[in-house]
Amino acid sequence: MDQDRVHLIGQNGRSHNSHKNLEELPGALLGEQVGASPTDKEWVGAGTATETERKVDYVRLLELGHELLVAIGEDPEREGLLDTPRRWADWWREFIEYDPGRTETMFQSVASNQMVCVSGMRVFSLCEHHLLPMWCDVSIGYITGKRVLGLSKFARISHQFAHQLQIQERLDAQIADEVSRIAGTEDVAVVVQGEHLCMSARGIRTQGLMTSSVMRGVFRDEYQTRMEFLHLIEMSRR
Ligand code: ZN
Repeated sequence: MDQDRVHLIGQNGRSHNSHKNLEELPGALLGEQVGASPTDKEWVGAGTATETERKVDYVRLLELGHELLVAIGEDPEREGLLDTPRRWADWWREFIEYDPGRTETMFQSVASNQMVCVSGMRVFSLCEHHLLPMWCDVSIGYITGKRVLGLSKFARISHQFAHQLQIQERLDAQIADEVSRIAGTEDVAVVVQGEHLCMSARGIRTQGLMTSSVMRGVFRDEYQTRMEFLHLIEMSRR
C-alpha cells in the first residue's frame, strides 16, 4: 500500500502529489473536516451488488491436490510432498474467499468536480484460460461529486475483483462498474497493465505487458480530461 500513488488535481490545474499512506488521505483531502468524528463525515451505502459469499469445497480441494500430484507422476507420500495438498487447498481458500472489507465508506467532499487518480496498485489474479497467475497494475480515476471514496477503497475494490478466475478486460470493467456505483458517477477511468504467466512461462514464452482500459463519461467524451488522466499515470511510473 505504501507505494500506491495518489494525485488530486483541481480544475484550475494545481496539482497535489503525494505518496502518503492512503488511509491518511481523506482527511488531507477534506481539509477542515480533519478531526471530525467518523460518523459526521462517513457514509456507508447499502450492501455491495457484487457481494457474493464464495466458498471453496475444502475437502474436495485436499483430494484434488493429492490427485494432482499423482497425475504429474509424483509420489504424494514422499516427505517433501506430504503436506502439499493441504498447503495448496489453503491457498485456494485464501484466494477465493478473499474479504475486501468495507469498500463503501464515503466522505463528504468540500470541492466537487475534482479529478482523483490512484495508481500503482498491484493486484494478483488468475487467468481463467490457463489457471496461471497474472500481476496487474491498476490505475483508477474519477471525478468527485458530493461524496468522495475513502482512498484505501480503491485498492480493496481492485483486490476484490482480482480474487477470482479472471481475464484482464473484465477486471477493468468490474472495477469501473463498482467505483461508478459507489461514487455515483459515470466519470470513471480504469487502466490495467498485466503481466501474464500464461504468456511468459508457456506458449510463446515472451515477457510482455498487456494494457487495457475502460474510459467512461468525461474520460471518454473529453480528450483533454482523458489525456490528463493518462499523463498522471505516466508521471507516477517514474
Ligand atoms: Zn492465460
